[in-house]
Amino acid sequence: MEVKRRTFLKQVAGASSLAVFGKDGTAEASRLQVSPDQYGVLVDTTLCVGCRSCEKACNEINEDLPRRPAEWFKDKSVFEERRRMDFGAYTVVNRSNNPANPASPVYTKFQCMHCLYPACVSACIVKAFTREPNGAVIYDAWKCIGCRYCMAACPFQVPGYEFDNVLTPQVRKCTFCFDTRLTKGKMPACVQSCPMEVMTFGKRNDLIKQAQGKIEKYPDRYVPHIYGEKEVGGTAWLYLSSIPFTEIDFPKLGYHPAPGYTEPIQHAIFKWFLPPLGLYATLGSIMWFLKNRKKQEKE
Ligand code: SF4
Ligand code: SF4
Ligand code: SF4
Repeated sequence: MEVKRRTFLKQVAGASSLAVFGKDGTAEASRLQVSPDQYGVLVDTTLCVGCRSCEKACNEINEDLPRRPAEWFKDKSVFEERRRMDFGAYTVVNRSNNPANPASPVYTKFQCMHCLYPACVSACIVKAFTREPNGAVIYDAWKCIGCRYCMAACPFQVPGYEFDNVLTPQVRKCTFCFDTRLTKGKMPACVQSCPMEVMTFGKRNDLIKQAQGKIEKYPDRYVPHIYGEKEVGGTAWLYLSSIPFTEIDFPKLGYHPAPGYTEPIQHAIFKWFLPPLGLYATLGSIMWFLKNRKKQEKE
C-alpha cells in the first residue's frame, strides 16, 4: 500500500512538476503570517539537571517512535557523546562543559525549533510540512517522497531520516505534540514531564517578556541573549543559557528567515525543470556558503 502511494507520488512529481508545486509553491514559508498569539516554549537551560524525563515522555507519547524501556532513559552514559535528533528520537538532551564552573556542566534539550518561517516548509516540494497558526510545524508522512530536501534546508539539522527502511523511508521530527496534546488544550508532553520546570509553555510574546525579565533580574546568571527570538526570523522554542549558545551547540545564525536563502534557488530550479541532482548540488552550495560565512563571522 505504502509503496503504491510513494510510486504514485513520484510519478506525479516526475510527470508534471509545475502542476504539483504550483507556480510559487516554494515560497510557502516566507509568506506565512505569524500570529501574536502563537504558542512557544521557553527553555531555561540553567535549570536542567539532565534527568532525561523529557526524552522518555516524548517516546511514550509518540507511538511511531521505536519503543524504549523506561530503564534506558536513566542511562547517563549517553552524555559521553553529542547526540542529534533522528528517526528514533524527536528530542535529545546533551551535556556541555561549563568553562566558568567545570563541576557544573550545562544540560540542553534539543528538538525542532518550530521556526516562524520554516525552511523545511519552504523546501518540501510536495508540501508534506505545514506550519499551523498556533506555531507548530507539522509533517504529513503520507505525502513524503523521501527526497530529504527538508533535511538539507533545516538550519538546525532537525529532520531525521529512516535510513534502515529501504522501501518506504520517511522523514520525521518533533510535532510540538500538535495532534496528541496541543489541539486538546494540553501542553507538550516533554514540557509537562520536566521535574525541574525547565520549560515554560505559553504565548510566545509573553515568553519573550518573561525571558527579558529573567536576564534583567539575574545578569550574572544568563548571557544577555534569548536564542530563537530573532534567529532565522524567530522560532517558537526559545532558550536562555548561562554560557554562550555556540558552546551548547546552537548554530550562530543570521536574523533573516532561512527560506529566504533557499526559495529563490528553488524557484529557478522548478522554472527550468532542473533534475533533483541539480537541487541537491544547489542546496549543498548554499550550506557550504552558510558554513563559510559562519566561519568568517567567527574569525
Ligand atoms: S527547526 Fe528545522 S525542521 Fe524545525 S521548523 Fe525549523 S526548519 Fe523546520
Ligand atoms: S513537543 Fe512533543 S514531539 Fe516535540 S519533543 Fe516535546 S514531547 Fe516530543
Ligand atoms: S526533563 Fe527537564 S531537567 Fe530533565 S533533562 Fe529534560 S529538560 Fe532537563
